[in-house]
Amino acid sequence: MVGNTTVDPLAWASAVTKPEIDAVRNPRTGHVLNVRRLIRAFRYERAILLRQRLKALVKRDDARLVCATCGVPVYLACSTTKRFFFRHRHEDGSCPAVTRTELSEADIRAMKYRGAQESGAHKRVKALLLRSLSADPRFKDVASERTWRASEGLCGLRRPDVSARTDTHRLAFEVQLSTTFMDVVLSRKEFYRAEGAALVWVLPYFHPSYRRMTVDDILFGNNSNIFVVDETTAAASEAAGTFIMTCWYRKPFIQGDDIVDEWVERMVRWDEVMVDVNSQTIVVFDYAQEAARLGEELRAARLESSAAAEAAARQALEDQENELREQVLRFILDASRDDDDLPRYQAWALLNERLRSMGYGLDGEYPDLLTVTRIVHLIESARAGRPVGFGYKSFAELGHHLIHQHPELLLAFGHMLRRFGTKEALYRDDRTGKLKAKLDALRGHILHDPKYRMPEDQERLCAFLSQGASLKARLRIPR
Ligand SMILES: [Zn+2]
Repeated sequence: MVGNTTVDPLAWASAVTKPEIDAVRNPRTGHVLNVRRLIRAFRYERAILLRQRLKALVKRDDARLVCATCGVPVYLACSTTKRFFFRHRHEDGSCPAVTRTELSEADIRAMKYRGAQESGAHKRVKALLLRSLSADPRFKDVASERTWRASEGLCGLRRPDVSARTDTHRLAFEVQLSTTFMDVVLSRKEFYRAEGAALVWVLPYFHPSYRRMTVDDILFGNNSNIFVVDETTAAASEAAGTFIMTCWYRKPFIQGDDIVDEWVERMVRWDEVMVDVNSQTIVVFDYAQEAARLGEELRAARLESSAAAEAAARQALEDQENELREQVLRFILDASRDDDDLPRYQAWALLNERLRSMGYGLDGEYPDLLTVTRIVHLIESARAGRPVGFGYKSFAELGHHLIHQHPELLLAFGHMLRRFGTKEALYRDDRTGKLKAKLDALRGHILHDPKYRMPEDQERLCAFLSQGASLKARLRIPR
């Protein structure tokens, strides 16, 4: 065997260039899925797990995907270059898509296994494993190739390469060879799970950049941890009097905005190994949990930074608005009589452009300077509780003026008096009570008669300049 394509676990899976089965169907929903797109939606490590899951389901006659052409259950297979495709569970020639060679997987396995099973490497690792376990007094009944019969009610038997038990676990060790097919891996997993025992796969050698498909099946099925027993670890076990293996595992970390992996290789004592019989995972490092935790951390950091950016943008806008408001108010209130009319109008036109860019300017090609002047004076009068800039002595006079000359400003004026707490001042010098009478008389019409309605652009500008005081209480400045 030459050449080996090794795929980064986090890389996106890819399909073979021309899959025989190019569409599969979910028999429950009836949805037809494009095979190439479906495969590309998975990370490589996930595709390996999906492959195992589909295989297990097909064996249980619980097909989740069928060939879209003929309806036969399919499972996911992988080419020697680690590209994925779908295969019929059985083929009788009725489907134009031909996905199986003449030899069945069982045939190939039997053929290869016979030769490989007792290969030199296999024997050697088994012997090293026996040495290592025997060095540790916590392992009892250490035996080679002892028949393991299924407990009552279950059927079958297995002959693990090495078996042993500790105070807490019954253990089966299998040396993983290049020809151990996925369904062997899966069926043994099931067997030992049912037995309440843990199956530990042991490799003679591992390197992350040279992984066979069969190794990937075990690696990703075991939460990205894999164990190696060799001469060095056996010697270490004997020297320490405790079972030691080399563990390779993936360790995720955050790089910029992504989670990436690094591979860690270290010698581990059995005490560090976490055994979960139910999930049949034997790990030193919980990759899945750590990856999930980092994913959560990334999400939180993204959320936080976008919230911070939003707050900063909001603050910047607010600062900009405050500055502009102040500028407009000063422009009107600080005007002296000597101001030359033309440049003053030009300056106002520029200010109105800025107001308009923020959504508050007066409409029209020639925004009226008198209009904005009146609005600013209205606001400042309401705020001060006396006429500002209208040329009247008493607040009541200003009231009469508004009623007769600018009824459209009355509502805004009323809201501002309430907001600024200056309403009493309006009636203070209404000695005749005329103003009050007039206001009482128009109260019934003010909400309906259009003459009391301010043009929209003026209303917006007034609300902006008064910071919402001109609007009915509790309304925000319309934007
Ligand atoms: Zn088919």
